[in-house]
Amino acid sequence: MPELPEVETVRRGLAPHVTGRRLDAVELRRADLRWPIPVRAVRGLAGRTCGAPERRSKYLILPFDGSGAPRALIHLGMSGRLFLDVLRPRQEPPAWELHEHWRMRFADRLARYVDPRRFGMLDVAKDEREYAAHPLLAALGPEPLGDAFDAAWLHARSRGRKLATKVFLMDAKNVVGVGNIYASEACFRAGVRPARGAARLTRGDCARLVTAIRDVLTEAIEAGGTTLRDYIGVDQGAGYFQRALFVYGRAGEPCKVCGTTIQHRVLGQRATYWCPRCQPR
Ligand SMILES: [Zn+2]
Repeated sequence: MPELPEVETVRRGLAPHVTGRRLDAVELRRADLRWPIPVRAVRGLAGRTCGAPERRSKYLILPFDGSGAPRALIHLGMSGRLFLDVLRPRQEPPAWELHEHWRMRFADRLARYVDPRRFGMLDVAKDEREYAAHPLLAALGPEPLGDAFDAAWLHARSRGRKLATKVFLMDAKNVVGVGNIYASEACFRAGVRPARGAARLTRGDCARLVTAIRDVLTEAIEAGGTTLRDYIGVDQGAGYFQRALFVYGRAGEPCKVCGTTIQHRVLGQRATYWCPRCQPR
């Protein structure tokens, strides 16, 4: 499943190809993915120029110029991938692939969306007000790499919360984009036991968690960016997962830092890993 680093990698890969280019044509092969696609609104984006792509949580945002300054909202769901083709002059666009659901043509660039399981999303916010009030975005907490996410925020949010720290960190109302693997890894780097009650986190714990979350996500984004060429996929995190994981998926193996056996349990219905010695608190 594409996580925040993969979506950010897609955003960075897409940016030089669509920014400042006119959306010449939109083609839709179906009128729904996970939810209905607002077909008229999506087609209505044609003729507008695309600004620099943005990301909010795991949503890719394409801003367009013209009246209302509408935005296209794209989510990759469980299995969505964006492909980008650079078309030579007079070159025919490639044939539609199996499970390819929509295309956007930006001059000589063709963005294609392929999603076998169809849990993805394509929506349009027709103006700033609609974007700010979008039901999937409005309740989201701060971006983990943004300024609003800091130790004071995390500490305030965790007061009185009895749930496990790892479960707390995976709640998008507290911070977006901390998936299961990143939550385990961030707790390890912060020296915090994942099952520790969130209410018992000190300010120091919160500061270490903020740094650890930022570091883990930044490293994953950097790893994802290195393999990107003329095609934009969302499997780029795999190399990072294999090389840099300290605890996730390593139950029974020795800790890379201290040699203690990595422990495993289910927390909030998700596999959770930790080192009892490196994560004493
Ligand atoms: Zn250890």
